[in-house]
Amino acid sequence: MYDQRVFNFSAGPANLPESVLNKIQEQMLNYNGAGMSVMEMSHRSSYFMEIMEKTEAQLRELLSISDDYAVLFLQGGASLQFSMAAQNLAVPGKAAQLVNTGSWTQKAIKEIKRHSELNVIASSEDKNFSYIPKVTANDFDDRASFAYIASNNTIFGTQWESFPSLSIPLVADMSSDILCRPLPINDFGLIFAGAQKNLGPAGVTLVIVRRDLLNRSSSELPTMLNYSVHADKGSMYNTPPTFSIYVVGLVLEWLMQMGGLERMESLNREKANLLYTAIDESEFFYTPTEDHSRSIMNVVFRITGDREDLEAEFVKSAKEAGMDGLKGHRSVGGLRASIYNAHPRKGVERLVDFMRVFEKEHKTALAHSN
Ligand code: PMP
Repeated sequence: MYDQRVFNFSAGPANLPESVLNKIQEQMLNYNGAGMSVMEMSHRSSYFMEIMEKTEAQLRELLSISDDYAVLFLQGGASLQFSMAAQNLAVPGKAAQLVNTGSWTQKAIKEIKRHSELNVIASSEDKNFSYIPKVTANDFDDRASFAYIASNNTIFGTQWESFPSLSIPLVADMSSDILCRPLPINDFGLIFAGAQKNLGPAGVTLVIVRRDLLNRSSSELPTMLNYSVHADKGSMYNTPPTFSIYVVGLVLEWLMQMGGLERMESLNREKANLLYTAIDESEFFYTPTEDHSRSIMNVVFRITGDREDLEAEFVKSAKEAGMDGLKGHRSVGGLRASIYNAHPRKGVERLVDFMRVFEKEHKTALAHSN
């Protein structure tokens, strides 16, 4: 039980800016004079239509998205996009291409293969997904239907530093790093992201898709799985996840107040550097991720000797000290600090101090076991 807010290092759903939570509270019973909460109003009301338009406009401004792209607010989570992207972008007789960087691309492989031939052109599985394979545009085939990557690998703590500029549409799962830095949008055919890390609460999935690709969506597709329908209807074919979209709008407003994505990137790099430096300087902690692939959103680390007993104690004591969610993903174990846009620098500083104290207190336990 806590009587105040904790530093939340959860991989997602993750923490939201406190000013956003305060604004939601302020507008909860009566949104801007509507006499009701956003949760209670028609998605076709002027109030909500305005929220929708403003949210899209803010996103376009932050990411410099031109009119060549449609912005969609969908449901079904990022996981639905693994198959939806393939169903809409596959071209009969052509294969898709993918770079395998861990669990989320492995899940995508399974789904894409239901709808298309797929070639995995590079993989970091040989070293337990601890790096992003070095690929260039030449590694992709111009005749492929599309190329698929995950820009940030939430579980393994790796992130693409830059992206290849391809002649085929590049599809990117950006669920865990969208808006953490400016993006060369025009290098992508399609970007998707579940909201619950850097965008807002769970329940809405952002899709940014180049409009010319909408021609590929067959009318044979189930209506709800057809990008072209959602683009035509302005994400209002059916009831959109209104409250989640409203909160995304507040988060985007906060990002603008913070100074936009260039500033966000430098704040994120400072936070990540604090943590990676503490890990690198320590003989007690280490990170399995390779230098140039280190994620600035999810910092994955372990205690030397992969001491699960000490890691469990670390998670427990950190929780008692007001730092929650530091356990690594259940599939890989270890420790993970997710430090998305909204995670305050103070939280990272507190964690680094805590790590130093924990190391001092437990170093002897490690020495005795060696
Ligand atoms: N892709 C990545 C990179 C993720 O981190 C996650 C969720 N952690 C997903 C996809 C799946 O997202 P969802 O739960 O919204 O389907």
